[in-house]
Amino acid sequence: MNLKPPTATSPAVSTGRMIVISGPSGAGKSTVVRELLKGCGLPLTLSVSATTRAPRAGEVHEQDYIFLPRDEFDRRRRAGEFLESKEVYGRGDWYGTLQSQVAAGLADGKWVILEIDVDGMQSVVERYPETITFFIHCGDIDELERRLRTRNTDSEDAIRRRLEVARHELAYQNRYRYQILNDDVDQSVRRICDILQQLQLGASTNA
Ligand code: 5GP
Repeated sequence: MNLKPPTATSPAVSTGRMIVISGPSGAGKSTVVRELLKGCGLPLTLSVSATTRAPRAGEVHEQDYIFLPRDEFDRRRRAGEFLESKEVYGRGDWYGTLQSQVAAGLADGKWVILEIDVDGMQSVVERYPETITFFIHCGDIDELERRLRTRNTDSEDAIRRRLEVARHELAYQNRYRYQILNDDVDQSVRRICDILQQLQLGASTNA
């Protein structure tokens, strides 16, 4: 399926919205997205990304990610099935947003959340300039390092790698329309929800 940017002549698409949420790992992005999906008074839905990385313990195929072998991922990429796909910075694995995930939601009038990295955000915004973008962070790099160390789940090497990736991501935060400092999950969810509801109100007032 070939998605076209929303236009006045494509009403099924124009009622839906695209939302990108990015941020360094350790900033609490996934928790915020999970809570946001539980209730915000908007028809939110999550685009499930495809990845070549192996599932982690507890992760469910087609719920957390669509886990694909590398050759299948490449085949689908060549077939033009991805809206964007990247070898995510510092990971060594490929990740991508399938057109089908987004198209189904938009056609249903849903607000589709893409939890993707900073490079993916740029590709999506180039194609859909109306995309609402949020960057979730937990302060500066020192705070992130403190969190990763307190969490105590990563080796020294892994912490160093995560911090390097985080520096790359933090360098892009000003390209996002909204930056959310996540020092309290409930407050962050409320802020994002408020912003989205305001945008919905604005859209219906201008209609
Ligand atoms: P993780 O492997 O920890 O679940 O995710 C690693 C990184 O990949 C995160 O920064 C996440 O935002 C990013 N990511 C997940 N899905 C996608 C996707 O579909 N496209 C892009 N560009 N990045 C993604």
